[in-house]
Amino acid sequence: MKQISNYINGELVPAKGAGYLPVYDPSTGELYAEAPASDVKDVELAYQAAAQAFPGWSGTSADERSAVLLRIADLIESNLEKLAQAESLDNGKPISLARSVDIPRSAANFRFFAKAITQFSSESHEMPDAINYTLRQPLGVVGTISPWNLPLYLFTWKIAPALAAGNTVVAKPSEVTPMSAYLLSELCIEAGLPPGVLNVVHGDGIAVGAEITKHAGIKAISFTGSTRVGREIAQVAAPMFKKLSLEMGGKNPNLIFADCDYEKMLTTTVRSSFSNQGQICLCGSRIFVESSMYERFKTDFVERVSALTVGLPSAEDTDLGAIVSEAHYQKVLSYIDLAQQEGGSILTGGKAVHPLGSEGGWYIAPTVIEGLSHDCRTNQEEIFGPVVSIMPFTTEEEVLHYANDIPYGLSCTIWTEHLSRANRLAKNIEAGIVWINTWMLRDLRTPFGGMKYSGVGREGGLEALRFFTEPKNVCIQYGD
Ligand code: NAD
Repeated sequence: MKQISNYINGELVPAKGAGYLPVYDPSTGELYAEAPASDVKDVELAYQAAAQAFPGWSGTSADERSAVLLRIADLIESNLEKLAQAESLDNGKPISLARSVDIPRSAANFRFFAKAITQFSSESHEMPDAINYTLRQPLGVVGTISPWNLPLYLFTWKIAPALAAGNTVVAKPSEVTPMSAYLLSELCIEAGLPPGVLNVVHGDGIAVGAEITKHAGIKAISFTGSTRVGREIAQVAAPMFKKLSLEMGGKNPNLIFADCDYEKMLTTTVRSSFSNQGQICLCGSRIFVESSMYERFKTDFVERVSALTVGLPSAEDTDLGAIVSEAHYQKVLSYIDLAQQEGGSILTGGKAVHPLGSEGGWYIAPTVIEGLSHDCRTNQEEIFGPVVSIMPFTTEEEVLHYANDIPYGLSCTIWTEHLSRANRLAKNIEAGIVWINTWMLRDLRTPFGGMKYSGVGREGGLEALRFFTEPKNVCIQYGD
């Protein structure tokens, strides 16, 4: 049984109190590791270490911090295979995805912010008799809380800018997938990150996440996860006037017009529906298709989706691996039942499967549903699994209404060769991220996040460095 440790004050240590939490292998459903069941005492130790490290770390030059972060990026790259295997085992995602997306992107997060901080600058505003300049200073100790779907990718997406900007961090990875954050702790020690600069506290949401949120010394919370937990965090942190960045749930629409590049759209739509078993916040799960092309799309899409391989995460040819946990597997299956109760027809999938070589494990066939109204529960609530709903539309106005008529507003994908229409829709769509004729194409300099129930604040590029710094204006009068 593998045993995971906390990383506090530069050392790998067990939790102070309650022992360990079970960590399951989603491909078999069996216990394979345990992670510290930390609580308020461990959060306090992590905070004390971070507070002690803050003056030293915030006092280093941007170049010095950049050099350490680049060493971490190099170490992630040189351990890519080990990290990819660990992530795939822990999360159930196909090894090919962990190898090509999760781990390279985790290294890229460190590399990007290591470079960005050396180019970060602030404004000055001149008056006739005075000059203002803005200092951008690190906040102090900050807290990060991340989910299980892209475990190392999203964990590093927060800590890299926080550290680059000179903060020290108390970080909580998801208790469902703690392994890669633990392996990163080992790499931080190897890279020579000074003790206390990053502290990783494992444990569940209430015992650790809520304690980080309400800790009076922790100045900001950067959270990615469900809208329900984001709301709980806001309820605690907002009255304390903490800076908050909340990246939450989504229910993203795909708007597919008959004039699109059909083959590119079809291939990408299969990917945007079922990548990582549909467990990416940016997956499109409400697929609106112009009625003149609906039957053609339905036939071709269902054929492609039926041909996807649900397999062991470790197999090279697996398209969809296992669902991350038993609880989530049951939740996704319950939504498939709901869809049928709401009058939906299952065109393919719709059930649990057992790929060859697996007896236990939590696998669901990629599922396509039709016949549902845009405003039924199946089409309004986040399922976050391999389940999509296809619906016809006739006019641009109609599909814009369907797309926006939902509490969420994370991302949207538009497929059309009609330039004006694409831009018109992009302007009017209620989402923080719009892709036109592509999906998941990411430039780390761009603002990332959602509106409405999907998020508050933006990550990425300068937005993240601004979030993790406090602007302070200094005004000097020239005098005679
Ligand atoms: P979750 O909200 O259940 O958990 C996220 C993290 O919050 C975990 O580390 C958890 O332990 C912690 N947590 C739980 N309760 C807490 C509390 N009361 N106080 C503080 N922390 C607490 O989400 P999840 O199930 O791990 O992840 C799936 C969700 O994440 C989906 O809703 C998905 O859309 C969302 N997500 C959003 C984005 C985005 O960028 N918007 C990206 C990835 C995932």
